[in-house]
Amino acid sequence: MNIINVPGATAYLDTDYEAKAKYAIEAIKTHDMVLIHIEAPDEASHEGSIHEKIRAIENIDKKIIGPVYDALKEYSEFRILVLPDHYTPIRTKTHTSEPVPFTIYGFDSSKKSNLSFTELNAEQTGLKVKKGYKLMNHFIEGDIL
Ligand SMILES: [Zn+2]
Repeated sequence: MNIINVPGATAYLDTDYEAKAKYAIEAIKTHDMVLIHIEAPDEASHEGSIHEKIRAIENIDKKIIGPVYDALKEYSEFRILVLPDHYTPIRTKTHTSEPVPFTIYGFDSSKKSNLSFTELNAEQTGLKVKKGYKLMNHFIEGDIL
């Protein structure tokens, strides 16, 4: 694995979302897998700011996931997995360990929920990966698509 140093990436609320997407899209050309970690929603939660948390999630959606997804559509085969690494509830301002929601989409997806990506909707799918470390295997194998 290579660490890609993205100018403007701060691991904070002011991170450069567009730069992260740009560097990820470039990395996709030469790597089989690219992981983008965005710390801003976690930092907003530690600070107890629902406004900043919402803004961070909206920025991730608009400035990273959207452009990366559009770039992936240029490839005949791809998958995308979106998830938080843990919950950080605003009310407690600290990490918690309950299972997190995830969404996977790929060229070979056959199951489509047509649900928006929310904790409640994820729970309603009934799909759970009991051992979190196995999620990556499912993602790579495509056996839960
Ligand atoms: Zn944290």
